[in-house]
Amino acid sequence: MKSYLIAGNWKSNKTTNEAMEWLQKLSAISLGTRDSGQELSAKNNTFVLCAPYTLLFFMKQEIDRLQLPIALGTQDVSPFGDGAYTGAVSARQVKEFADWVIIGHSERRKYFGETDEVLAQKVAQAKTAGLNIIYCVSDENTVIPDGVDAVAYEPVWAIGTGKAETPEHANAVIAAIKAKTQIAMVIYGGSVTPDNVASFLAQSAIDGVLPGGASLDAEKFAALLQAVEL
Ligand code: PEP
Repeated sequence: MKSYLIAGNWKSNKTTNEAMEWLQKLSAISLGTRDSGQELSAKNNTFVLCAPYTLLFFMKQEIDRLQLPIALGTQDVSPFGDGAYTGAVSARQVKEFADWVIIGHSERRKYFGETDEVLAQKVAQAKTAGLNIIYCVSDENTVIPDGVDAVAYEPVWAIGTGKAETPEHANAVIAAIKAKTQIAMVIYGGSVTPDNVASFLAQSAIDGVLPGGASLDAEKFAALLQAVEL
């Protein structure tokens, strides 16, 4: 049986109160708990929510308290270690709260000018700190540094546009990435919703999805997690 990775990306959204509301809604939906032998989390699927840094402390406490079957991640990390790097958050600091990190998202490349070199430094820092890395690529030709744990294929035109890639084409690109890199876990991102998620998960090479907009709504995010059961 396939193991899926579903990784939500909140981007620059939500205050503590809004995060609390989301968590309460999610906990009211039956997803199982981390201790359950029968439910979603026990089936080797991995559910991750990549939150803003400002919410990590709070989210970690609440996810533990509510026993939600989701791991925490961040959406970026410093290319440097601890030290005199004003404004940056090091991988070691992230690891205090989270086990996952997204590196190389197209919005980081576009708005923050992140290059392949900087991204390779980020991967090295995250690896040393013991974070699981989801590395974003826009096609099968994007350079992928050694050491990433999962790749997210995200065609730029499909992100936040409501126009998802066709599942068949996403599958072909992901199969090509797998053949080229030997990375076993490759997921799709770009306007994934509860309505189209099953068509992506049904593809042979696709190991999960990275929803942005849909992850902001607890009910939609829960529906995406429940879709791994379809
Ligand atoms: C993303 O955040 O990487 C993303 C794919 O966003 P959306 O699902 O909103 O297109």
